[in-house]
Amino acid sequence: MSTDQRVKVAARTGKQFLEGLASQKREIWLDGEKITNPLEHEQLALAAKSMARIYDFQHEHASDLLASSPDDGSLVNATHIIPRSREDLIRRRKAIEMTAALSGGTMGRTPDYLNVTFACFAGRSDVWARRNNETGAANIVNYQKIMRDRDLSTTHALMNPQVDRSKPEAEQAMGEVSLHKVGETDDSIIVRGARMLATLATYADELTVYPGSDLRTVDKPYALSFALPVGTPGLKFVCRGTYAKTKDPFDYPLSHRFDEMDAMVIFDDVEVPKDRVFLDGDTVGYSEVITDTGWRGHIMHQAFTRAYVKLSFAFGLGHVIANATGVVKFDHIQEKLGQMWNMVELTRSAITAAEAGATPDEQGVWCPDDRPFLALRGEMPKWMPKANELLQLIGGGGFMLTPSRADVNGPLKEDIAKYFQAAGADAERRIRLFRLAWDFVGSELGGRGELYERFYLSDSWRMTSLAYKIANKDFATSLVEQFLKD
Ligand SMILES: Cc1cc2nc3c(=O)[nH]c(=O)nc-3n(C[C@H](O)[C@H](O)[C@H](O)COP(=O)(O)OP(=O)(O)OC[C@H]3O[C@@H](n4cnc5c(N)ncnc54)[C@H](O)[C@@H]3O)c2cc1C
Repeated sequence: MSTDQRVKVAARTGKQFLEGLASQKREIWLDGEKITNPLEHEQLALAAKSMARIYDFQHEHASDLLASSPDDGSLVNATHIIPRSREDLIRRRKAIEMTAALSGGTMGRTPDYLNVTFACFAGRSDVWARRNNETGAANIVNYQKIMRDRDLSTTHALMNPQVDRSKPEAEQAMGEVSLHKVGETDDSIIVRGARMLATLATYADELTVYPGSDLRTVDKPYALSFALPVGTPGLKFVCRGTYAKTKDPFDYPLSHRFDEMDAMVIFDDVEVPKDRVFLDGDTVGYSEVITDTGWRGHIMHQAFTRAYVKLSFAFGLGHVIANATGVVKFDHIQEKLGQMWNMVELTRSAITAAEAGATPDEQGVWCPDDRPFLALRGEMPKWMPKANELLQLIGGGGFMLTPSRADVNGPLKEDIAKYFQAAGADAERRIRLFRLAWDFVGSELGGRGELYERFYLSDSWRMTSLAYKIANKDFATSLVEQFLKD
């Protein structure tokens, strides 16, 4: 498919994305400084360029990344499409994979993450409509069209802050820290409190809030779901320190480009227009919109496609390093590379199995079979750190033989060319390779990437126990029972 002039193209270009970022004055706090436009901040501007690249990329690969809107046929990003067939799922996965490849899978929260989520929510608006929430359900259907047709970049904040995880939201810090409703007008609800952790907030047009945990039935003020422009008065984004390196990309090839940023969101009596509210006070619905919409299968389709790309990148780094330094000849290094490949291949197989086992639900939305994903959900937070460990074991001290470009081109240029060479790479290539690998496993951004993989879909322990709880145990039990009868 080419972006034919006669067909309306809703998908944005990088330029349009950047104009959108600059068009809203947001309240970002970084290092004591209030930033209203991320493009005017030297470090924040770096990942904005990578995001713009993602928006341009969809036009360069329109046949894979764009699809016709079911409403008017205009071209939209394929990840906005509510899947109505297995082919839709496969096309969506291809779009996610190609997008993730641009950052080697290191950007976890590119817009496709929430595109997939809201396509799922809109496709199952009947679940949102339960218990007389027809208006909220209609709002989410409308909102998904807005996301799709304006090709928005969105962030989300699902968890209440870490005050005391052993207590319900309403019992922590007098109930004041967790996001909750404090008032209502004819046209809006008023919300106060905070939520973590809005990745991409600095590069988003809109903030979305939806459930990330269960609530007690009495905690109605905390049962909220809505969406707002990031520039809405009262919204404050408090960022961690930036890991973006303005220095030469030779020195920090990933940190220079891909720090997608994470922020706590503070809601200082924020007015949410009622047509942007999806759920208000329904504590039962708060759980059901996650469990009964098929969201798990959909979001893991996105998450593990990106994970497949990131694991492939890690495997590629290990393979190229081992061949550069000759250690590939040792059996135990081959075994370590084999372990990395196993993770790649098992992830790819899980995605294929989930697509092969996909079925339409009662609303005709095609859902991936979530069983292989549930199994991966417990394992991936262990595999990603394991891949980093294996890379360190393969690379050894080579990660420290990494002078900067200034040294490579400086007075010791000839010494560096001689003493930093590897059997399979000249000095410059070897230094570039190890600097890239260190930015993956060991830099501030690399460390953040590892933490992200451990927690972004909740922790491995709870997810493994969830997999056990919802697993079908019939066959396994029957194997045992047959010997307990005589
Ligand atoms: C880099 C990064 C980016 C993220 N981006 C986003 C984002 O964009 N949007 C978003 O909504 N969220 C995001 N998250 C947050 C993510 O949703 C949470 O980190 C995750 O849900 C875990 O919650 P927590 O970090 O508060 O850890 P906690 O829940 O406080 O857990 C800390 C430790 O305590 C244990 N623990 C806590 N509660 C229990 C319990 N009830 N039972 C047993 N053990 C328990 C955990 O297993 C863990 O070991 C991000 C997280 C990270 C690290």
